[in-house]
Amino acid sequence: MKFIVETSARHVHVTQEDLETLFGKGYVLTKKKDLSQPGQYACEERVTVVGSKKELAGVSILGPCRKATQVELSLTDARSIGVAAPIRESGDIAGSGACKLVGPCGEVELKEGVIAAKRHIHATTKDAEALGVTNGEIVSVKVDTEGRSLVFGDVVVRVSDSYALAMHIDTDESNAAGCGREVYGEIVK
Ligand SMILES: [Zn+2]
Repeated sequence: MKFIVETSARHVHVTQEDLETLFGKGYVLTKKKDLSQPGQYACEERVTVVGSKKELAGVSILGPCRKATQVELSLTDARSIGVAAPIRESGDIAGSGACKLVGPCGEVELKEGVIAAKRHIHATTKDAEALGVTNGEIVSVKVDTEGRSLVFGDVVVRVSDSYALAMHIDTDESNAAGCGREVYGEIVK
């Protein structure tokens, strides 16, 4: 059983409070395009992520707003701007990397929140049954590409009926496997 493997570029999730600090009081995110996960979308708004050595301009915000601001970078990004980004599941940000976010109306100093997302599969209960996996299980996934096929270990399965079946990797992982436009993976035991 194969599933699509999608590459997540660097992005930021923000709280409504931080959004207002960055873009102005009462500001509302502008949806640019829906993402594969239901209810999630890329926004027109962009911010600059500032590390101890350098900064990354034009980093997209993904909506909707969340309970905690979180910056997802590749390890290449994190190293280049001088931020220590641990590999974490989304939402698990305690003690993660620090940075500053700069928007058109203000700045937010983040003591923590910068992570390199742990590669993962989003699956519904039905998908998980069909794949023979359960929530939180760690699996390996083989990705077949032109000349750079790769088996990714340490892939966490996340099960929720609000998801759509897809695996998410970051740009470092995508490049390591030479992923083109449409790539599929399958669990290998
Ligand atoms: Zn994901």
